[in-house]
Amino acid sequence: MAEVNMPKNTPPEPTGNPQASVIEESEKAMELVAEMLAGNIVDIRPQLDFTGPVGFFYPYVESVLEVKGEEVVSILEALASEEILNRNFFEKLLRCPQCQSVNLRPSTHCARCGSGNIGRGRVLEHFVCKHVGLEDEYISRGRYMCPKCRQELRTIGNDYQSLGLLYKCRDCDNVFNQPMVKWSCLKCSSLTAQEKIIEINVYSYSFNEERRSWLEFEIKPKQQLIDFLKQRGYEVIENATVKGRSGAEHKIDILATRDDGVVTYKIAIGVKVAEDKIGLHEIFDFDDTAYDSGIHDKVLVVVPGLHREAEKFASLQRIKVLEVRDLETVLSSAVSKPSEEIKKEPFEFKSKSQLIKYLKKLGYQVEENAEVQGRSGAKHNLDILATRDDGLVTHHIAVGVEVAEKAVELDKVFDFDDKAYDIGILDKVFIAIPGLSPEARQFAQRQRIRVFEVEELEPSG
Ligand SMILES: [Zn+2]
Ligand SMILES: [Zn+2]
Ligand SMILES: [Zn+2]
Repeated sequence: MAEVNMPKNTPPEPTGNPQASVIEESEKAMELVAEMLAGNIVDIRPQLDFTGPVGFFYPYVESVLEVKGEEVVSILEALASEEILNRNFFEKLLRCPQCQSVNLRPSTHCARCGSGNIGRGRVLEHFVCKHVGLEDEYISRGRYMCPKCRQELRTIGNDYQSLGLLYKCRDCDNVFNQPMVKWSCLKCSSLTAQEKIIEINVYSYSFNEERRSWLEFEIKPKQQLIDFLKQRGYEVIENATVKGRSGAEHKIDILATRDDGVVTYKIAIGVKVAEDKIGLHEIFDFDDTAYDSGIHDKVLVVVPGLHREAEKFASLQRIKVLEVRDLETVLSSAVSKPSEEIKKEPFEFKSKSQLIKYLKKLGYQVEENAEVQGRSGAKHNLDILATRDDGLVTHHIAVGVEVAEKAVELDKVFDFDDKAYDIGILDKVFIAIPGLSPEARQFAQRQRIRVFEVEELEPSG
């Protein structure tokens, strides 16, 4: 594959894993795994069929998936390479290199001249004339007569000897102990030397029970979760690679991104499936990854559940933990499905009322001059508080509006940021009229405040 040059100074976009699982890529593979999970298919055994093009087939799989031949084999092999299926040797088949048929018949040939006219038996040497031949060449009326010199052979070890069980070519008289094996194809009639024959192994497959709980999530709830997110305007990348602030590369099982025009949300969704309850260090890793990637909405799907101390840590770090049955509840909830398509063009601020209308259209509940109590106990006033419950996570946006004669100074932005921090809102939008001072702008950038600088407000309407 060709290398792609990234333009300089552009943070790399998260990318999906090129080795996405076969069950994500192939509907048929997923169907097959579902059948095996349900116990409808236990063993996948081939049936040999010398008249067919491949030489064997998996009748049950073909009838369930409605695919044939090599496509079935490639699905089975892909599942085996991901250890979803166990592969067991079943049979070795030989294939004609000319026409691919497995309908071959072996034949033996003289190693010197290649003739198929060879005989096998006890080989005798007549000392007198040095003739070497098969026993049946000597037999004449119940006696041994030399076919070359016509003398009778009398005593073994004395006038003749046995060289043992060998082959003799009737065309070139070559005597040898290993004939050359060739394969004649019953379909295209070509004759192929042993070393040119294609050997193929045929396997039977069985379900790898160790992967059951992982698959049970992967097959259904995961897809539903992805669909759920997509319906709510998220772009979803599975097995996303994200570069963290530390420079480290992280893997995120599901990365959901939604660009509202005003703010861009990212949700990191981790999936932890194990035989036993999930321990603290795995939750810690996930939290660390999200933190380093600058993602503050964290959802962790756990199968079968969390250890007590992991649970405590998760709630402390505001990680939303879902067991599969919680996930089903979330997925079946019809909360706040956006009624309108989200526009992909960047939002352009014109007036406060236009912003409010825009947010409402996106499914936010909007409160003006909202009074909110901070973690410190202090009461704060927010110009606009926008709240949207996805069903999965609840997003809050704090919006500050500041009108000044000249550029808005640092202290105003600082106060706003401080307020949002005390309330616990991480998505911040600041509207500065007629603009920000350079220090204020720098601060806002560092604090990840989305700033709209406008010269003047359009009259509300
Ligand atoms: Zn003789
Ligand atoms: Zn020969
Ligand atoms: Zn052939």
